[in-house]
Amino acid sequence: MANNLVRKFGDPVLRERCEPVTVFDGDLKRFAERMFSILKSANGVGLAAPQAGDTRRLFIIDLSGQDFDSEPIVFVNPVIEKVEGEQQGEEGCLSFPGLYLDVKRPEKVTVSFQDLDGKSHRIEATGLAARAILHENDHLDGILFIDHISAYDREMLAGRLKKLKVG
Ligand SMILES: [Zn+2]
Repeated sequence: MANNLVRKFGDPVLRERCEPVTVFDGDLKRFAERMFSILKSANGVGLAAPQAGDTRRLFIIDLSGQDFDSEPIVFVNPVIEKVEGEQQGEEGCLSFPGLYLDVKRPEKVTVSFQDLDGKSHRIEATGLAARAILHENDHLDGILFIDHISAYDREMLAGRLKKLKVG
């Protein structure tokens, strides 16, 4: 599984707050294509711009491997408008190879965003899709899934995190 194009935990870009996309041009489209190829080669379901070394506010989700009705989506300038309910489940992150954590998230999310042409959309998602959207959206504010576990659990993981950390 080639995952060497994804920025790993310890890379400062993963803690940056990303900037809104204002230019919807060929460069943005090429960057999104590059993100999809990285996601595919890493065999993941979601990737945020900082994981590809860029600080524009966009992420991609591709659940087509899990759900054949699902189309890959690019979320540019996403805004989480509403969350409801709660789900608990195992979560991974391409920036933390081999680390899976039990993370509590809302069960349902309403998110508005723009596409690569700047057109506005709003969707509702539940379950795994909601989890993926919330996880990737966090990346745009420099928030990582390890920030969602308790201080005690993080302490328990300290040794493993130290080994994972690059730089
Ligand atoms: Zn992640």
